[in-house]
Amino acid sequence: MNALELELDYPFGEALPEPGHTLEVAPGVRWIRMALPFALHHINLWLLADELDGVKGWTVVDCCIASDDAKALWEQIFATQLQGLPILRVLVTHMHPDHVGLAHWLCERWNAPLWMSATDYYAARLGSQSTTGFGGPDAAGFFAAHGLRDPDAVDKIRGRTRYYPSMVPAMPSRFHRLMDGATVRIGAHDWQCISGYGHAPEHIALHCPTLGLLLGGDMMLPRISTNVSVFDIEPESNPLKLFLDSVDRFAVLPPDTLTLPSHGKPFRGLQQRIRQLHEHHRDRLAEVLRACQERPCCGADILPVMFKRPLDLHQTTFAMGEAVAHLHALWFQGLLQRTLDAGGIYRFSAVPG
Ligand SMILES: [Zn+2]
Repeated sequence: MNALELELDYPFGEALPEPGHTLEVAPGVRWIRMALPFALHHINLWLLADELDGVKGWTVVDCCIASDDAKALWEQIFATQLQGLPILRVLVTHMHPDHVGLAHWLCERWNAPLWMSATDYYAARLGSQSTTGFGGPDAAGFFAAHGLRDPDAVDKIRGRTRYYPSMVPAMPSRFHRLMDGATVRIGAHDWQCISGYGHAPEHIALHCPTLGLLLGGDMMLPRISTNVSVFDIEPESNPLKLFLDSVDRFAVLPPDTLTLPSHGKPFRGLQQRIRQLHEHHRDRLAEVLRACQERPCCGADILPVMFKRPLDLHQTTFAMGEAVAHLHALWFQGLLQRTLDAGGIYRFSAVPG
């Protein structure tokens, strides 16, 4: 546990649900954990006791990526953890593959509707059918314009065109729209939707005042900081401001709220975690500004400033997105100015005075 985590309270200690099993974290709320084949390591999914049209069953929150391993774990859960009841509804916090990958399979298998924000539904549906966002020539051009010039790396990114569909091969053809401020009745409890930006197009977290729970998705993680990146599809965005403004919206929730995050363990200490996230990004922004005061920097120049460890290609693409997000936050604040050099690379330098 790192020093920052000591400021948080993990009421379940080291307890984790076994693969294919669940762990009850509140009445009618069960925790599922599935391994992921990349650095993120695992994802938390949730079962909420529900009743729709007089039929008792479960609402699933998030799905895991499409893989045989994940399907086998789900089958084990269906057989042993549902108390003989059906899955009634599939609710997805956002469009990233570890959250939405198996939505089509779960919805089809249980004839259950998908509930999701409209922005993320369409992004996922488009991504599952084409090559947006995570690879291909557009991404290669974007990274090159921010100084990633290793021809081997740029070639690999250009060739990586089936990345998203490999984990999200299909999407349900219909959905039920979740929106900020909406209330969703799940079983005996009302859950309020809280939209969040900067990590995904329109992430939905859900707060249940009567159970004292926040389904935080990827917007409120206890141990790692949420990925906040600029992507080629929206190259002039300011996601770090969007993210920090979004997490501030959780600050008004009761301090004893138990946050159920998508990665890591359930925790209390929402207000402490919001403060930590602000401090984390304030420190990174100060480092980036200092580097740009010494000499004009492109995105690639910022990698060793923000990331002290060696990065593989997959990590490099994420790190580049994060580096540009921090440059853009300072640029939009008016502390940096941007110029396009003769080689077609954006360089950011401190605004004098
Ligand atoms: Zn995510």
